[in-house]
Amino acid sequence: MKGNSSSLRVSLRLLSAGLVSEEVIKDDTKLVGGSGLSLCDSNDNSKKSETNKALRNHQVLLAAHLEEAAELAAMIQGLSWALKLVVKSIQFFCDDDSIILDYVTGKVAPPNESIVVAKLLKQLALLQTSLTSCQALPLLRSDDDINSSSLIKLARDVIASQTTWHTNTEEYETCPDCYAHVSPRHKLEVRSGCFHPICFTCIRD
Ligand SMILES: [Zn+2]
Ligand SMILES: [Zn+2]
Repeated sequence: MKGNSSSLRVSLRLLSAGLVSEEVIKDDTKLVGGSGLSLCDSNDNSKKSETNKALRNHQVLLAAHLEEAAELAAMIQGLSWALKLVVKSIQFFCDDDSIILDYVTGKVAPPNESIVVAKLLKQLALLQTSLTSCQALPLLRSDDDINSSSLIKLARDVIASQTTWHTNTEEYETCPDCYAHVSPRHKLEVRSGCFHPICFTCIRD
């Protein structure tokens, strides 16, 4: 698919994933969010750049429709990121089976109680007007499994990076299995199939 033909710049595709997960930090359970973002060439789908960002907006983390809010927040971070890279023409993608595409294209309005989702949609629409060409398209996840799992990994990495805290001398993290406070540099290891590091005691058991 070709981008805006009057633009000399290549048209890019933005793929995004927004995740929120419940994490034990010190002795509290908190919601922690992150996004995985990648920009690909529209013509050959080659990856141009990728990044991840913490999702710190408390409204998003407390939103009633948390999954939708997190996905929209990730798209907003992605479009802002693309604008900073001076990309002018973007196609961004929403899951084919999600209501978000209908919201973004204005086909369906979010329900009245989805205040945060409505706010995010306004923010997204404003960003779209800052780009020369910006189009929302459906993404068939099954056609794009490799991309989507690498985006989810990026989002999980940035979530994991927010679960540590510091004392004067040491960085700590709570083992999600036994709730011990341990230094991730020395005592935690990532179990396969999960992004939470757990402590050596738990790995041994
Ligand atoms: Zn443990
Ligand atoms: Zn886990």
